[in-house]
Amino acid sequence: MKSVSIVIPVYNEAQMIQTSIPHILSVLESALASAGKSENYQLEVIAVDDGSVDRTPQVLAAMQQQEPRLKALSFTRNFGKEAAILAGLQAATGDAVIVIDGDLQHPPELMASMLQLWENGLLVVHAVKVQRARETWLQKQLARAFYAVFKSMSGLDLRGHSDYKLLDKQVVQILLALPERQRFFRGLISWANFPSGQLPFEVADRPDGSHSKWNRIKLLRYAINNITSFSSLPLKLVTYVGATTFLFGLIIGVISLIQKIEGKAMDGFTTVNLLIIIIGGAILLSLGVIGHYLARLYDEVKGRPAFLIKQNLTQEDK
Ligand code: UDP
Ligand code: MG
Repeated sequence: MKSVSIVIPVYNEAQMIQTSIPHILSVLESALASAGKSENYQLEVIAVDDGSVDRTPQVLAAMQQQEPRLKALSFTRNFGKEAAILAGLQAATGDAVIVIDGDLQHPPELMASMLQLWENGLLVVHAVKVQRARETWLQKQLARAFYAVFKSMSGLDLRGHSDYKLLDKQVVQILLALPERQRFFRGLISWANFPSGQLPFEVADRPDGSHSKWNRIKLLRYAINNITSFSSLPLKLVTYVGATTFLFGLIIGVISLIQKIEGKAMDGFTTVNLLIIIIGGAILLSLGVIGHYLARLYDEVKGRPAFLIKQNLTQEDK
């Protein structure tokens, strides 16, 4: 018998989880039962309350009375979904771990197929959005811009990716061993490039019509964090800006000198011009050099392994 952990990050979902958690479990159970596989798996649910300020912790405690397979953790404050996923992975004991949202926007019907793909030897199963939920035009464009910038800077194409994933225990252990604290779950999994499969899904609307727990500012901060944790390009850009300024400066400097020689320049203008150009260019260039060293330092501090070996990643020893 194999064990499967379902990790659910929840933030201010007191209403939602009373129906969503039992629903997620029962959908998976009935799919397994109809495939005659109920006996193959032992399930556990880990709900991570990300510092909710509503009755989520009390609701979880009450639900645990009814459902012994439910484990609940509560953060002291809202540390963010990434932290909640990390805590869930740490607490999970399963041979496979499925991360899923607690608002039923991720269809639990996929879980049985995810397990099947895992049994077939895949270590990661991504649920990929073929259609995003109802969003405004601006939200769609912003999401598109984020994925385009992220791809151009990190080389990873995350379009359509979600946090709804199945991970083999070995993958979870590798993720947990990474020392970095600011994490981008989706990005890290794609970066590691484990043998993986994809299942398409359409994002449902929240069943009660409530809104996303992310506001614009939180999303913007999330986007900037994720880009900077996968690329040092912004730091290095200063060098290029510095070099370009310096080049322009040289051209303007030469022109000023010519004007001075021809006697067309105003008194003192050439000296001021040259000083500004040379000092400005030199400052930007040196900032760029510091940026390069900082980028190296940043990469070292993140402590991501320089490589991951393939042979270690098979399911044979299970
Ligand atoms: N969530 C969380 N911490 C947060 C924000 C959200 O744990 O700071 C949870 C939330 O309760 C839900 C999941 O993460 O289970 C996805 O959040 P949401 O539905 O608000 O995001 P969206 O569907 O808009 O991506
Ligand atoms: Mg949602």
